[in-house]
Amino acid sequence: MDIKEIKSIEDVAAFCKRKGFVFQGSEIYGGLAGFWDYGPLGTVLKNKIKQHWIKYFVQKRDDMVLIDGAIITREDVWKASGHVDSFKDAFSTCTKCKKVIRVDHLIEDQLKIPVEGLPIKELSNIIKKHKLVCTKCKGKLAEPKYFGLMFDVQVGPTNPTKAYLRPETCQTIFTNFKNVVNSSRVKLPFGITQIGKAFRNEIAPRDFLFRAREFEQLEIEYFVHPDKLSEFPYKIPNKSVNVLTAKEQIKKKPKLQKFKFKELFSKNLVKTKWHAYWIYQHYNWFLELGVSEKKLRFREHRPDELSHYSSATFDIEYEFPFGWKELGGNADRSQFDLSQHIKFSKEDLTYFDGEKKVVPAVVAEPSQGVSRAFLAVLLDAFKVDKDRIVLKFKQELAPIEVAVFPLVKKQHRELAREVYEMLREESLAFYDETGSIGKRYRRMDESGCPYCVTIDHDSIKKKDVTIRERDSMKQKRVKIKDLVEYLKD
Ligand code: ATP
Repeated sequence: MDIKEIKSIEDVAAFCKRKGFVFQGSEIYGGLAGFWDYGPLGTVLKNKIKQHWIKYFVQKRDDMVLIDGAIITREDVWKASGHVDSFKDAFSTCTKCKKVIRVDHLIEDQLKIPVEGLPIKELSNIIKKHKLVCTKCKGKLAEPKYFGLMFDVQVGPTNPTKAYLRPETCQTIFTNFKNVVNSSRVKLPFGITQIGKAFRNEIAPRDFLFRAREFEQLEIEYFVHPDKLSEFPYKIPNKSVNVLTAKEQIKKKPKLQKFKFKELFSKNLVKTKWHAYWIYQHYNWFLELGVSEKKLRFREHRPDELSHYSSATFDIEYEFPFGWKELGGNADRSQFDLSQHIKFSKEDLTYFDGEKKVVPAVVAEPSQGVSRAFLAVLLDAFKVDKDRIVLKFKQELAPIEVAVFPLVKKQHRELAREVYEMLREESLAFYDETGSIGKRYRRMDESGCPYCVTIDHDSIKKKDVTIRERDSMKQKRVKIKDLVEYLKD
């Protein structure tokens, strides 16, 4: 059955499968929970989102470099970062049906109280107090246990070295800090960004791409001289945003408040102007991707959920079909990570400022899952317009940029192929000669293609084509010789 509306995340998954955006990993063998394969359209969209990150944060700035670290990383890295000891979640098993349940999610879903960061004993007490049972069979739940979320690997055939698939990309930014400083002539303040795979053995992967076991991250670590945190050369635009503060979250009826981004600093919600600025930049990146402002808000981490390394963290949240959830995070990590790696590796990872050696402070860490950004972009683009589904992607994100159709296959194919071959030199073009012209338009609307070019009888005589625009469905005749310029405009 065709989906006419997105009501649930399952509808999104079904649509993505039908159109070739995303497929279940290992599907023909029954699937593997938490692993997804991107199809032809999805791969292009995902790559364009990553390219947009590079354009926005690297290409258009003077103070950012890009690296690409190894996925498999020595155990020492994760001992220093704190992951070996503390990157774990609590789970419980149903004593009857053996379903495995992530305990904090169970409590949050059933009781609507935030429990992120609470110790296992307290989680267990809440389950007992509220008599929470298995969500599948109502069976009694066993005492919760911790489960380490990192996938470990043994490297080499004899005396294997213990290593892990990285659970986040940022640590290789810290371990390469000195290499980047020595090789790239960067001067504080500057940032290092990385795009790459991360792996977490999530207890209960769910909500399609939202919580997967293999995913990609876009991360930035922004380093500032620790004695110059108040020297801030940029401007924070005079823009407001909805924020759910930590104080509000402990009230019975938490209220959203409007803050200007600069007020996050002036009202002491973050420690530096830098952090407020990077929270704005992360948000603005989403606006540039075409995500609508009313679907975005920020949530401040409560003191009980703040990570050990962070003095302030703000999550950017999106209104998914399953509620407001974390799209990305942005933490002030101060000197924690570099200091830890100095301690554990015994290497000198300091920065020489001309007078003395300092450990730079990470004033902000915009951290973004690619697949969560992918979902937000897709959900925001999805529109039902009378009898058609149309993905109104911004043009630069469209996985097919222009489609070319001969009106009648046999009569117009030759010229249509010529036009197609001309256009594909410049853009991601697609050729389609099957089905009625109406069906071909619909297929392209559902793929988010902004322009369809049709070659008909007049085209052969007059050397022109019809261009149909996706959103307005308006049609226009354009000379073939002007087509590339017209589409570029
Ligand atoms: P959550 O609370 O949802 O588990 P987190 O706070 O553990 O997320 P971080 O460690 O801050 O997430 O990771 C940074 C970003 O990486 C997240 O905001 C999200 O966009 C992405 N991310 C984290 N875990 C997953 C996952 N299992 N699947 C997809 N994306 C993820």
